[in-house]
Amino acid sequence: MYVNTVILGAGAAGMMCAIQAGGDCLVVDHAKAPGEKIRISGGGRCNFTNLDTTPENYLSQNPHFCKSALARYTQWDFISLVDRHGIAWHEKTLGQLFCDGSAKQIVAMLVAEMAQVGAELWLQTTVQQVQARGDGYQLTLLRDGAQQCIDCKNLVLATGGKSIPKMGATGLAYDIARQFDLPVLDTRPGLVPFTFPEGRFTALAGTALPARLSNPRASFDEALLFTHRGLSGPSVLQLSSYWHEGEAISLDLIPEIDLFTLLREQRQTQGRRALTTELARHLPGRLVDFLATEFNISGRLADQSDSALQSLTTALSHWALTPGGSEGYRTAEVTLGGIDTDALSSKTLQAKSRPGLYAIGEAVDVTGWLGGYNFQWAWASGHAAGCAIAARR
Ligand SMILES: Cc1cc2nc3c(=O)[nH]c(=O)nc-3n(C[C@H](O)[C@H](O)[C@H](O)COP(=O)(O)OP(=O)(O)OC[C@H]3O[C@@H](n4cnc5c(N)ncnc54)[C@H](O)[C@@H]3O)c2cc1C
Repeated sequence: MYVNTVILGAGAAGMMCAIQAGGDCLVVDHAKAPGEKIRISGGGRCNFTNLDTTPENYLSQNPHFCKSALARYTQWDFISLVDRHGIAWHEKTLGQLFCDGSAKQIVAMLVAEMAQVGAELWLQTTVQQVQARGDGYQLTLLRDGAQQCIDCKNLVLATGGKSIPKMGATGLAYDIARQFDLPVLDTRPGLVPFTFPEGRFTALAGTALPARLSNPRASFDEALLFTHRGLSGPSVLQLSSYWHEGEAISLDLIPEIDLFTLLREQRQTQGRRALTTELARHLPGRLVDFLATEFNISGRLADQSDSALQSLTTALSHWALTPGGSEGYRTAEVTLGGIDTDALSSKTLQAKSRPGLYAIGEAVDVTGWLGGYNFQWAWASGHAAGCAIAARR
């Protein structure tokens, strides 16, 4: 059997690529259903893009690589696709757009668009072998217990990263890339909770507050959540993508307040008030109890010298913690690293050394922040490769 294009992976990037590539295209996936990560994303409502998407919201060894694709398929392009399908959406916070109804609407939209251009979808199909053949590629697939041999001119690697193996994530794109001599950068989990030695934050599990999390490379002001295993919440997930094993992170528990000035003022007028009572006016009570032990906080406001108030302010705004690790690929929303962008054209996502071989989406070394940026990269990179394939006919 011959098809013009085989796309491995019916996820966000693969389906968008098929829609642009047009007919004579086969999309192959080993899962039972297409777009499973889309379906579960955003708590079932899919944070499908971000109004404020810019190249600065992405991590990559080459920070310029994502610019071309993002500029040619923007958040507004995806929003107009969603609008054409009558899918209602809303902005939740920080430019993050979610479906009003269900993430399944986004999957259904992509499947309908693929059907409209005549792209074929083979699910529950295993890739057994891939090899170069003439000017193109030959794949051996296993479908319904039967081997199928497919020749194609274009082969698109869109099988994503390693995050959430339980949902069928594999390193297939990396393996095929290596087979064709494309370099693959080391991968690590991103947008993932931090873990700490057992019991460290058990007393605080479930406590949430706005906080600033920083390390020398990045800083995020978003919600922080203490869990039985450690730290989670948007600010933690964001910083985790900039974190390396063994490094300390810095927590500012009171980013919006000049605590030193405030405590000095309160000392004047509320001197008899316990320091912990004053702190509990700005922080969750359970956290104040915890901090009282951690930093030896006691006494009335009137008992505190300026330098004691300054030390306390420093402790609460620069709380240095060293995570034991992260929850790993088991719960990570994304995979950092992957197929080296140096090997790809930023305009077409085609391998520079291998005509007809493309890599898109999370498999490539481009990783977005939390907030719809990863889907926007999947749409944009899929669109760029799809357009290039359509032009190559
Ligand atoms: C829980 C969770 C929530 C998320 N929420 C959001 C969000 O709200 N907004 C956002 O922007 N991003 C979110 N993300 C990230 C986003 O899902 C990914 O960045 C995006 O799906 C990547 O698209 P992709 O097409 O490259 O890969 P995927 O969507 O992962 O698709 C890859 C496809 O390849 C298939 N595949 C894998 N291995 C093989 C193989 N060996 N053979 C055949 N097929 C294979 C898979 O079954 C899958 O269908 C979330 C991720 C997770 C895990």
